[in-house]
Amino acid sequence: MKEFLNFINGEFVKSASGKTFEDRNPVDHSVIGLVHEAGKPEVDAAVAAAKAALKGDWGRLSVVERCKLLDALALEINRRFDDFLQAEIADTGKPHALASHVDIPRGAANFQVFTDTIKSMSTESFQMRTPDGKNALSYGVRVPRGVIAVICPWNLPLLLMTWKVGPALACGNTVVVKPSEETPATATLLGEVMNTVGMPKGVYNVVHGFGPNSAGEFLTTHPDVNGITFTGETRTGTAIMKAAADGIRPVSLELGGKNAAIVFADCDFQVAVDTVTRSCFENAGQVCLGTERVYVERPIFDKFVAALKAKAETMKPGLPFDKDTKIGPVISKEHQEKVLSYYDKAREEGATVVTGGGVPAMPDALKDGCWVQPTIWTGLPETAAVVTEEIFGPCCHISPFDAEDEVLAKVNANRYGLATSIYTQDIGRANRMAQQIEVGLCWINSWFLRDLRTPFGGSKQSGIGREGGVHSFEFYTELRNVMVKF
Ligand code: NAD
Repeated sequence: MKEFLNFINGEFVKSASGKTFEDRNPVDHSVIGLVHEAGKPEVDAAVAAAKAALKGDWGRLSVVERCKLLDALALEINRRFDDFLQAEIADTGKPHALASHVDIPRGAANFQVFTDTIKSMSTESFQMRTPDGKNALSYGVRVPRGVIAVICPWNLPLLLMTWKVGPALACGNTVVVKPSEETPATATLLGEVMNTVGMPKGVYNVVHGFGPNSAGEFLTTHPDVNGITFTGETRTGTAIMKAAADGIRPVSLELGGKNAAIVFADCDFQVAVDTVTRSCFENAGQVCLGTERVYVERPIFDKFVAALKAKAETMKPGLPFDKDTKIGPVISKEHQEKVLSYYDKAREEGATVVTGGGVPAMPDALKDGCWVQPTIWTGLPETAAVVTEEIFGPCCHISPFDAEDEVLAKVNANRYGLATSIYTQDIGRANRMAQQIEVGLCWINSWFLRDLRTPFGGSKQSGIGREGGVHSFEFYTELRNVMVKF
């Protein structure tokens, strides 16, 4: 049986207490391996190693030397592309086409983009005259924050983890990563890669486990952690922010969403249908930026619903490596139950089920997998649970609208504010709306199109802070001011 060990101070470490938990493949619910749960002693050891590394070889490297190591990491991830691919697919069940085009390449790119950015980073300086007639020059220096706790979700495990580890290391910090209990594999594999490229011991550490009363809580409450970066549910973000209050540690929070797509009658219809299909169903709807509310201008409402239904019905579920598989399972039995409970709720609240609404028929070998059908509803009021709450499954509700102000008010009424996409040929209207929608990310005639130099993050209850390009350095460094009198 495969075992996933903690990675502490450059070594793979078993659970001292002997506690392990099962890592399961959501395709058929088979056990992939046993994960060694980190208790307080392992978390203490990981944080101590990360703290010591700040004062060791790592702390003495120049930016250029650090960047060489990060570039080597990206190369090594690409060299071991297949190992990462197999590991990510086994943990998540996502289709090969998706993992090979998105998860693993972005996992490597997340190191490169930040080395490119940090090498050309400057800080501000000001010169002034002092009251006694002398001069003074003040300038900023960016210094690493120290030990960063990186708490990750399961939906894009390597991609979202390296999105934080990349800039944290580029800035000279050290990290202790707590991957999701559902997806321990690629974070563990990255430990091997760290050793291969000669990363100093203690710079990258991994502790496995759960949230409360486990590795997540032990790490986020640890007094020697200097900053916490988290991606996950808003409820967990609240708990982490409370933990960070003790010791006044900064947080960067990338949280949940209930993202809208707004489709105007003058849109390029095929672009809108194809892109909304991806935004609703890609990764079985488990993308934080995914669309769960679609608003369509009334003249094309029926035609759009019919077209999205036709697309949803081509989303063939199946094994990740089958060429005709278009959708994988959701991550776990627990999440399958949650998504299906919303499918029941939609029916109870009087939705018209346009397509889906349950579990697809699967061959015997996959019957125990965590499958759910791509699902579309219409006919619900804006107050319905499936229109207001994040489901994180392959589903959406479609409503008609008549006016720009009306749809703007509906989109903004939600407590989340992560992403919106707008489909229209009227570029004036698109820009006017983009400036009024209360989100961190707004796409026009596109979705999930990313330039990694741009700010990424959510408004309202979707998060605090922006990461990406130079914006990541706001969180991963402390800006110190130096004033020289001369
Ligand atoms: P989650 O909040 O359940 O878990 C995320 C991580 O937090 C896991 O590693 C978990 O073990 C840990 N954790 C849980 N409780 C904790 C605690 N009290 N203290 C410390 N750690 C704790 O999220 P999930 O189910 O893994 O991921 C899905 C959620 O993530 C969705 O809400 C989705 O919208 C969100 N998400 C947001 C973004 C974004 O960029 N905004 C990206 C991806 C996912």
